[in-house]
Amino acid sequence: MSDAVLPALDDWFARELPELALDWQPAAVPAPALIALNEPLAASLGLSPDALRSPVGVAVLAGNAVPAGAHPVAMGYAGHQFGNYSPRLGDGRALLLGELMTPEGMRVDVHLKGSGRTPFARGGDGKAALGPMLREYLIAEAMHALGVPTTRALAVVATGEQIMRDTGPLPGAVLTRVAASHLRVGMFEYAARLPAEGLVQRLADHAIIRHHPAAAVAERPPLALLSSVIEAQASLVSKWMLLGFIHGVMNTDNMTISGEGIDYGPCAFMDRYDPRTVFSSIDQQSRYAYGNQPGIAQWNLARLAEALLPLIADDSSAAVELAMAELEQFPDRFRAHWEAGMRVKLGLTTSHESDRALFDDLLAALATARADYTSSFRALADVLRDSETEVVPEWTVRWQERLKSEGRDPLVVADEMDAMNPRVIPRNHHVERVLEAATDGDLAPFRALLAAVTSPFAGGPGGDELAGPAPDAFAATHRTFCGT
Ligand code: AMP
Ligand code: MG
Repeated sequence: MSDAVLPALDDWFARELPELALDWQPAAVPAPALIALNEPLAASLGLSPDALRSPVGVAVLAGNAVPAGAHPVAMGYAGHQFGNYSPRLGDGRALLLGELMTPEGMRVDVHLKGSGRTPFARGGDGKAALGPMLREYLIAEAMHALGVPTTRALAVVATGEQIMRDTGPLPGAVLTRVAASHLRVGMFEYAARLPAEGLVQRLADHAIIRHHPAAAVAERPPLALLSSVIEAQASLVSKWMLLGFIHGVMNTDNMTISGEGIDYGPCAFMDRYDPRTVFSSIDQQSRYAYGNQPGIAQWNLARLAEALLPLIADDSSAAVELAMAELEQFPDRFRAHWEAGMRVKLGLTTSHESDRALFDDLLAALATARADYTSSFRALADVLRDSETEVVPEWTVRWQERLKSEGRDPLVVADEMDAMNPRVIPRNHHVERVLEAATDGDLAPFRALLAAVTSPFAGGPGGDELAGPAPDAFAATHRTFCGT
C-alpha cells in the first residue's frame, strides 16, 4: 500500500557499506498528525503531496509504516564533539529509509529523525521534540531560499507522544530529511578505526561516485576527494559567513562530505555584527563562535585527512605531506569564495587590489557601530538610492568611490544588491516565538515566518516586523539550547 507514497527506495549505501549500516525499524507512534509538508520539495522529488498527506503517507512520514521494499538502517559514525573524540555516535534516533532517484536523476537520501532508539542511542530516548524539528525545517528552507547548499525537510509529523526534556514534557515529532547523502567526516573517522578490510577505501569510492566524481580520474583519487571536500566546505562556510550564520555545533559528525549544511540545532543568524558571537548554551568555550567557523572547518577537514591517509600514499610521511598541502589551501580557498561573495553583496562587478582592505574595514566599522549585519547591506543599497540612510558614513564614501570607478548606474546596482542581500532571515526572536506557539498548538506564526524566510529578498510593503533585529534585551540573553 505504502508504495504509492514513495517510489521504490534503493539501499545502495547499505549494500556497499554493510559495516556502517545496521538494519533497524522505526518505532511506532500513537497518533501521527502532519504538521508541515514541503510541497515544493515534494514536487522536485517527483512525489505527490496528496499521497504524502493521506493516512498511509502520514504513517510513512511518522515511521509507523515502512515503504514497500525499503530496508531502513541506522548509520554508524564517530565524531569529534567540541574537540573531543567520541568513537561511536551513529544514528541514535534516526534512520536512513533509503535512496530515492529524483526526476532529474539525482540520488538523495530519505531519512527519518526522531524515529526511536537504535543500538547507537546510548542514553538517549531516540525521540525528537516538535520545536527543534520545526527549527530544522525552517532554517533549512531559509538556507535553500538563500542559495546555500543544505539538507532539507520534507515533512514534520507530530507523534501524539509527550517526550521528557529538561524543561518538562514536550510534544514529540518526526522529521523527514532529504539530503544529497548522510556521509559525514565522522563516518570516515569511524570507518578508519573499525577492523573491517578495505572499509575506508569502499567509503571513499562511494563518496567519490556520489559527490565528487571528478576525483575518480585524478592521479590519487583519495587525495582528490579530500581536495574536493575542502573546496565544497570552503564554499559552504563562506556562504554562512556572508549571511552572518552561526551553525553552533560544527562537530565532525555534523560536517557532510557533499558540502551541504546539516543539523540545524543551536544555530542562529547574528543580529549585531560581532565575530565573537556564540548562541549555543552548550558551547561554553565559544569554540563555534561566528568568527571561528572557517578555522573549525579546516580543523574538521584535518580529521577527514587523517582517516584518508592510508589511502593517499603507501609511505605515511609522503601521505601526510600530500594531505597537508591540500589542507593548507583551505584559508585561501575560503577567502576567495568569501571575497567573491562580498563583492556581489556590495554591488561590485570587478576586483581590485584595494578590495581586501575595503571589505575588512567594513566589518571593522560594523563591529564598532554595533550595526545589524543583515540590514546594513540593505541600507547600503538605500544609500545608493539617495535616501537619508546612514550606515557607516566614512566607509560608505570609500565604497561609493569604488563603485563610481566601475561606472554603473547606482539605481541598477542598488536593485542588484537587494536581489543578493536578504531582507528577511530567520531571526532568533521570531524563531523562538513561532516554535513556542507551535508547541502550544498554534501553527499560524510558524507558517507566516516560513513564508517570509523563503522569499528572503522580497521588498515592498509589509513584513517589517520580521525584517528587523531583536530588541537589545532579547539579544543579550538569548541562547538556543541543544534542546533536541
Ligand atoms: P546531534 O547533536 O543531533 O548532531 O547528535 C549527536 C549524537 O547524539 C548523534 O549520534 C545522535 O544520534 C545522538 N542523539 C541526539 N539526541 C538523541 C536522542 N534523543 N536519542 C538518541 N540519540 C540521540
Ligand atoms: Mg548530528
